[in-house]
Amino acid sequence: MKAKNVKSTRTPIYRDAGFLLGDIPTMKKAFADEVGHPINPDIYIYSRYRNPTVVAAEEYYCEIEGCKWSLLSQSGMAAIDIALSIFQKNNQPNKWAFFTEIYGGTNSFIDKVLVNRRGIEAIRFAPDGNTYSLEAFEKFMSINKPQVVFFEVISNPMLLVADAIEIIKISKKHGAAVVVDNTFATPYLFKPLDFGADLVIHSATKYLAGHGNLSAGIVSGYDMKLAAEAIEYRKWAGHMISPDEAYRLHDMLKSFNIRIKQHFDNAYAIARFLEKHPTIESVCYPGLSTHPTHSISTKLFGEKGFGAIVTFDIKGKSFEDKQQKCNKFIQAVSSSIPLVPTLGDSDTILMPVEPVWGDRYPFPGMIRLSIGIENAEKIIEILNSGLKEL
Ligand code: PLP
Repeated sequence: MKAKNVKSTRTPIYRDAGFLLGDIPTMKKAFADEVGHPINPDIYIYSRYRNPTVVAAEEYYCEIEGCKWSLLSQSGMAAIDIALSIFQKNNQPNKWAFFTEIYGGTNSFIDKVLVNRRGIEAIRFAPDGNTYSLEAFEKFMSINKPQVVFFEVISNPMLLVADAIEIIKISKKHGAAVVVDNTFATPYLFKPLDFGADLVIHSATKYLAGHGNLSAGIVSGYDMKLAAEAIEYRKWAGHMISPDEAYRLHDMLKSFNIRIKQHFDNAYAIARFLEKHPTIESVCYPGLSTHPTHSISTKLFGEKGFGAIVTFDIKGKSFEDKQQKCNKFIQAVSSSIPLVPTLGDSDTILMPVEPVWGDRYPFPGMIRLSIGIENAEKIIEILNSGLKEL
């Protein structure tokens, strides 16, 4: 028996694998329309292609990003795969440029999948010391002429802010498509599409969902031809998000603007607290004037904030001493600020840097804090009590 006269302000969770097509003319129309890969089809066919609950969340996210189309995927990595793969051309050179300071998983995807399995030529652009030199990037582009440039606006764990406006400009001047991973900055701070990026991706697992309990990715753009290619790729690679997760993400997005402001305000207060603490060697946070990319962050983000990751280094007499102090601190705060390998959770969590990044960042006293949306005073109190143990 079907429920009658149900009225709801919400988009239902359509769990259908395949949708009711009913008769042959309807089925024929649905498949004929599908050739154009519409974002919001008149007739839904199969949930891996498109799903109304997913489309509702995508349309909602478009308003936040201020773009023409957004596609959800089941993870940030799937979003990266979609965004990059649609630029791969058969029988043509595929030389793609990646900044070195990107998420480790993305670096592994490049090496293990794009290069080793798909034969993409991946070239890397590294910062010059603690900042990306625009002169060096200009030279890199004119020598290498890659078809695609991929970078993150705020890097991890050193929080280097790339001058995204200039990097996009230079990339476009040299004819490259630009894909930006904006997970750390979020659309609240900066919108790469407004400055000419072709695609922006997010690990929505982080701030967009914001509760540490959902895995999702988003690819967004303006170009409808790219939208059709991304829909087609997502469909055949099977990167579609489930309607249940899209529904949950849709709800979480409603509080995004409020939550993210609290994350950023808290992070600023905590960075200021830590920089004055006698047990701390240094604090890495783009909002502090001591950060090498502070002026670039101010240029890109204005007064809106500087991200919600704060990386700090504990003082110590030797490598081993720092290692021990780092571990002692982690244990001291673990019941309130646990070691959890993610970020962008509503609760403050941490990760030690050297055990994760190894030789890349060989700083045994360094800890990456992902600041949550709790009361900042409370977080400071916990950090203070942990630091007192040192
Ligand atoms: N991009 C960045 C900057 C990330 O930090 C991560 C994950 O940590 C990803 C992409 C991948 O996202 P997901 O874990 O949702 O696949």
